[in-house]
Amino acid sequence: MNRVRLLVLNAALGPLDYTVPERMPIEPGSVVIAPLGPRKVTGIVWDNGRLPGAQVDASKLRPILEVVDVPPLSQPLRRLIEWTAEYYCAALASVARMVLSSGGALGGPMTTTEYRLSGGTPERMTPQRAAAIDALEGEQGIIRELAAIAGVSEGVLRGLVNQGVIEPVTVAIDRPYPAADPDFHQPALSDDQLEVANRLVKKVQAQDYAPVLLDGVTGSGKTETYFEPVAEAIRLGRQVLVLLPEIALTENFLVRFEKRFGTPPVLWHSSLKSTERRRAWRAISNGTAQVIVGARSALFLPYANLGLIVVDEAHEVSFKQDDGVRYNARDVSVMRARFESIPVILASATPALESLHMASTGTYELMELPSRFGGAQLPEIKLVNLTDEKPASGRWLSAPIIRALELRLEKGEQSLLFLNRRGYAPLTLCRNCGHRFQCPNCSAWLVEHRLSARLACHHCGLETQVPDACPDCGESDCLVACGPGVERIADEVGELFPEARVAVATSDTLGNPERAAAFIAQAEAKAIDVIVGTQLVTKGFHFPDLTLVGVVDADLGLEGGDLRAAERTYQQVAQVAGRAGRGSKPGEVLIQTRHPDAPVIAALANGDRDAFYAAETEARRDAGAPPFGRWAAIILSSEDEKEARAAAARLGDTRPDRDDLYILGPAPAPLALLRGRYRYRFLVNARRSANLQATLREWLDAHNFPPGVRVGVDIDPYSF
Ligand code: ADP
Ligand code: ZN
Repeated sequence: MNRVRLLVLNAALGPLDYTVPERMPIEPGSVVIAPLGPRKVTGIVWDNGRLPGAQVDASKLRPILEVVDVPPLSQPLRRLIEWTAEYYCAALASVARMVLSSGGALGGPMTTTEYRLSGGTPERMTPQRAAAIDALEGEQGIIRELAAIAGVSEGVLRGLVNQGVIEPVTVAIDRPYPAADPDFHQPALSDDQLEVANRLVKKVQAQDYAPVLLDGVTGSGKTETYFEPVAEAIRLGRQVLVLLPEIALTENFLVRFEKRFGTPPVLWHSSLKSTERRRAWRAISNGTAQVIVGARSALFLPYANLGLIVVDEAHEVSFKQDDGVRYNARDVSVMRARFESIPVILASATPALESLHMASTGTYELMELPSRFGGAQLPEIKLVNLTDEKPASGRWLSAPIIRALELRLEKGEQSLLFLNRRGYAPLTLCRNCGHRFQCPNCSAWLVEHRLSARLACHHCGLETQVPDACPDCGESDCLVACGPGVERIADEVGELFPEARVAVATSDTLGNPERAAAFIAQAEAKAIDVIVGTQLVTKGFHFPDLTLVGVVDADLGLEGGDLRAAERTYQQVAQVAGRAGRGSKPGEVLIQTRHPDAPVIAALANGDRDAFYAAETEARRDAGAPPFGRWAAIILSSEDEKEARAAAARLGDTRPDRDDLYILGPAPAPLALLRGRYRYRFLVNARRSANLQATLREWLDAHNFPPGVRVGVDIDPYSF
């Protein structure tokens, strides 16, 4: 009798054994439905002998009920699921769920009903209906999605359906995507680009594991260069995955992709409509989707014949997932390429130190684009020492930046001011009693957002109205904003230059693809003079008339508990500086700082990347930090402070005593309260040679924590 072990999509259960009914077509990777008591569970048939499980007597096993109509998960994907769970100390089921539930892949009909305007008019036109009809022009989707687009309740739209103004349409889930043409428009590449492109194309032809670090300065034309191996993969009938760090960047990418290949790629991100998501998932798994452009979660999709992975802006922090399975998509992409035996290209102008280290040791192949495309010069970088050049009281821009802005406005060129702080002011307090507005769910201040007239917590999403009076002392008109956010800088620019057209560019204002596209179009049409933005504008954008970049506070990132603070500061400032002077006009970068002598700031000013990386490498070596040693964090949290503290203390009592591991804590985590949960943290610093994961697992598995306590393991954490 045929007996199989399933990886079931329920982390509490562990692998379970079943029998296979006669003639049921099952192989490793098959997705199946099986009985569990009175319920049903979804599971993946796993390779024999690779999952531990209880030895249940064969006579007690129940048969699998049915096979789900999706292709079996490939062997490389099964190995990736195992590796991810093992490496990040996560449950196999949690990783498998990222693969299967991500697309609503399981079950469901093969067609869906969507809705769109019929062209008819309602019996009674109200302003609300008129606005809804206006907003829905050209849109199609399910009622909930349309309601979100139109900004009305679902009830309003149902009313319009009943009147025939909105009509149902049946669409096939599996309608094909248009085919990309690898030879649609081949741009003339520079000699440097051509040389690198040819080397990359050879990697694709070889179809072997080959990790490549594509290290090219900002504006060197990395995208056009890696489009050549993408084209080659398409010619060979292989799929390509391009990971982008930020949905706001996708728009620019799509335009360039369509120019090169004649059709847009298949998109994968969290704000995809449910039907689009299902369509993409199925096309990816049956091989008809050719090029997939996505956020980090696209890494866990069931590609039928993946031939190349590109990770653009590979140094970006947003490739790190910070809840659930805490993985770093950059590292996982290299592992996926290894299991699939394909090349992977990590592209960046400011690679992570770890990636450079891999290149210097020969683990990754280094390919370089040392100069800007089309002869554009890298911008000139100058420091503004805030100790000498004090901004006016209650202001944040120094005289040199103001003069430089004025000059750009006179010449009709664009400027970009960078400050990595959303909102108007990071802290609001009462002038009368000193009350500070704090989030009730998090140890964080509420940030004033003047554009939306709200106080918001940037950690849990809580939003409240700005009150008229202080909730503590009752005094009115007493609230003071402390410190700058981008909105406040935008106000300052507006007051200095009332004629200037100023745009705030953050995830609040460009958070969805439509808004991002509108912003790019405006900036390209030169309807914006000054952009004030957060890290969102540091990369990807290419505005040829942008000639000034001002960094409002370069010291900001050096504060706080970030293991890679210096590296992060270097990357952000170098990236945002890279937005200047990308066309024929030279660019200028002014960096405001109180610490002009800090090594990272000095390296930026001298344009001496090698010096910065060399110094940072030594600092990491001394600290036993990556890539020389390893870090992990363990976070215990509970809604009950005492419970969290007690659990952490108990765990601390059994800490492993080993020469190759050093354990700090428990101590309150940097965000000691987050989303209503109290958090205690251990930091583990391990030698490279230590078996970190196995040790952590053994340590944690020996404990039975109360149900209210959650334990999270973060391997290679970013922020401390
Ligand atoms: P990077 O990503 O390296 O910062 P980009 O790929 O954004 O640089 O390229 C910078 C600019 O140069 C873009 O506008 C791009 O379209 C243009 N460009 C790059 N290579 C070529 C080429 N071979 N032909 C025409 N334009 C190019
Ligand atoms: Zn909060």
